[in-house]
Amino acid sequence: MKQFDIFDLPPTRTVAIIGGGPAGLMAAEVIAAAGHQVSVYDAMPSVGRKFLLAGVGGMNITHAEPAEDFRARYSANSHFINTLKQFDADALRSWVHGLGVETFVGTSGRVFPADMKAAPLLRAWLHRLRELGVKIYPRHRWLGFENNKELIFSAQENGNNTTKRITADAVLLALGGASWQRLGSDGAWVPLLRERDVQVSTLVPSNCGFDVSWSELLRSQHAGAPLHGVGLSCSDLQGMHRSILSEAIISVYGIEGTGIYALSKYLREQLTQNGSALLNIDLLPDLPLEKIVQRLNKPREKNSLSNFLRKQLNLSPAKLALLRELTSKQTFEKTDLLALAIKKLSLTLTAARPIDEAISSAGGVAAKELDSAFMLKKMPGVFCAGEMLDWDAPTGGYLLTGCFASGRAAGFGVVRYLQAQP
Ligand SMILES: Cc1cc2nc3c(=O)[nH]c(=O)nc-3n(C[C@H](O)[C@H](O)[C@H](O)COP(=O)(O)OP(=O)(O)OC[C@H]3O[C@@H](n4cnc5c(N)ncnc54)[C@H](O)[C@@H]3O)c2cc1C
Repeated sequence: MKQFDIFDLPPTRTVAIIGGGPAGLMAAEVIAAAGHQVSVYDAMPSVGRKFLLAGVGGMNITHAEPAEDFRARYSANSHFINTLKQFDADALRSWVHGLGVETFVGTSGRVFPADMKAAPLLRAWLHRLRELGVKIYPRHRWLGFENNKELIFSAQENGNNTTKRITADAVLLALGGASWQRLGSDGAWVPLLRERDVQVSTLVPSNCGFDVSWSELLRSQHAGAPLHGVGLSCSDLQGMHRSILSEAIISVYGIEGTGIYALSKYLREQLTQNGSALLNIDLLPDLPLEKIVQRLNKPREKNSLSNFLRKQLNLSPAKLALLRELTSKQTFEKTDLLALAIKKLSLTLTAARPIDEAISSAGGVAAKELDSAFMLKKMPGVFCAGEMLDWDAPTGGYLLTGCFASGRAAGFGVVRYLQAQP
């Protein structure tokens, strides 16, 4: 990644990056490629743990939809969106290819590494970083700043616990959000920035499941059952209709799955404002209401109602159970009402699942605290990137692309900052 002409290169400076996830490592690559001495500190015994976990179920690195649609998936300010123009899905794919890992586009438009795994990509990437001279210090937990100058770490080295004080010409924080805390990002950095008067919006679960007060019958018989090919919709706080054709999973506590994650921002906002949220489910989005009525009006003959519905409408047992759970007996006696219920079941969500279970978190360092290079206005020389910034996006490769793009932009910010220092 050579971006600077040899004559522009500033004298070598030291840069401390705290957090070795996709955002921190991408920044490390940019800054080291510009000739600076980069040290990456991470609290965990190794870097990239969440990135590796993301690769377990099939690493979805970005999305191949048209650029404008792609960017429209993000809830972020224009500055963040701009970084996605500078490092878009195509650029990200080229970067992955440059590491010797091929990619392919799945039927949904999602982009995956050829073998669906994150480990080969991370291995090749760490090799490149080592070649660039990047030093990685695992088991170094950042505890805060002292006098704006020193970074305080609790470190474990050779089996000993020590406190370290480190100074650097520039600092880049890429500490992640607060989901899946056992992988390293635990949100413990939030008070460390707030005490420096940096505004941080509370970290909240995103791309998460929700609680529903299921009957014992539904919970015991259908928890874990998928709802394939459903239309899911809700309103956002401005009253706009938000919908997706996707799938969901009935869980012991409520409902989760890709389609639910995609609407989680709006559902979460409804919950915050009203104490509950309403999700609409169209069990047969491909079948217009009139067609359903027509089929329901066919003679039932000797079939039980469940059998009849299964045969006429191809409703799975889980969809049928949901229909029974959320409608009255009277609805089942009237064809028109039943058809309407199939097209629009209303499900009340009572709470978002805890942040630790979420795929990602929203909230973080407020956009107004950062300049156009992702530097904290109140702390010159300290930059931020990745999920710890206040933006939100659904699953589908958008999260990683946002982390890579902001890490890269903040990395260039650091290089320009150092160039401007006497
Ligand atoms: C199960 C799961 C599956 C996912 N799948 C996908 C997917 O397929 N596609 C996609 O786009 N996204 C996916 N994501 C989301 C994606 O992995 C994250 O958004 C991304 O890893 C965030 O990158 P980051 O660099 O900002 O933070 P992180 O990856 O969280 O890295 C932050 C690093 O900072 C370190 N750290 C935190 N605090 C300290 C401290 N005080 N001192 C020192 N170090 C510290 C942590 O140990 C960690 O290594 C998935 C997430 C999960 C949980």
